[in-house]
Amino acid sequence: MKNGALLYRGKAKSVYLTDNPDEVSVEFRDDITAFDGEKSGVLEDKGVYNAAVTTFFFEYLEIHGVKTHYIHMLDRRTMLVRRLQMIPLEVIVRNVAAGSIVKRYPFTEGQVLKTPVMVIDYKDDSRHDPMINDDIIFALGIVTREELLTVRKTALKVNDLLRTYLAGLNITLVDFKMEFGRYRGEILVGDELSMDSMRLWDAKTKDSLDKDVYRFDKGDVRATYAAVAERITPGALHRFEAEQAVFPGKGSQ
Ligand code: C5P
Repeated sequence: MKNGALLYRGKAKSVYLTDNPDEVSVEFRDDITAFDGEKSGVLEDKGVYNAAVTTFFFEYLEIHGVKTHYIHMLDRRTMLVRRLQMIPLEVIVRNVAAGSIVKRYPFTEGQVLKTPVMVIDYKDDSRHDPMINDDIIFALGIVTREELLTVRKTALKVNDLLRTYLAGLNITLVDFKMEFGRYRGEILVGDELSMDSMRLWDAKTKDSLDKDVYRFDKGDVRATYAAVAERITPGALHRFEAEQAVFPGKGSQ
């Protein structure tokens, strides 16, 4: 069930054990942090907005043949997921240059990349998530060559799916970060896909619709998260309550 023992508390999500050893629940909290935790705060209902977007995207990916850890929602800010053995890699796919790639390389902010650029970081806060390459990945024994190929192919497929869906809403998927894990011999998409882990720009105004609003004090963060969640998941913010009204107990067995 939802709140068994706390297994892991991250910067914005908490993971709990459930009665089933193969499943855990992930609670999206209202905490918001940036710059390796240097800046932090609490934003009312932020967890609900990120949970709505993440679960919507995971369902969308599953429909399109991408396997994820998602099972179903337990409440508006908690999802039940398969318990993965997480792979400590942050797989970042970029369609437009922004953020660290502009700082590190001679791209200009907003430059459209002719083909998606994938960058893989080693997930380790104490080392500030350094960029990693294939040789280091294999030398550390993080994944096999075959697994890395699956990770890369899946990340590009997810990029295509999300970019196309968002373009239909006049939102540009500038870049996003994904994490993967192993489950019964397979590699599944794990973690989240939310405004915390993506750069989203309004296609017309180029306004940020993601955590950059918080990072760089670009405006009302809560209003931005609420509006983009409603835009991406029409009606989903209220779906859980609606389903409970019609099918009491659904999603909580
Ligand atoms: O900071 P950078 O430009 O490398 O980030 C690229 C993308 O990956 C952004 O959408 C950012 O939100 C996401 N990211 C993340 N978690 C990290 C690093 C980056 O979600 N630890």
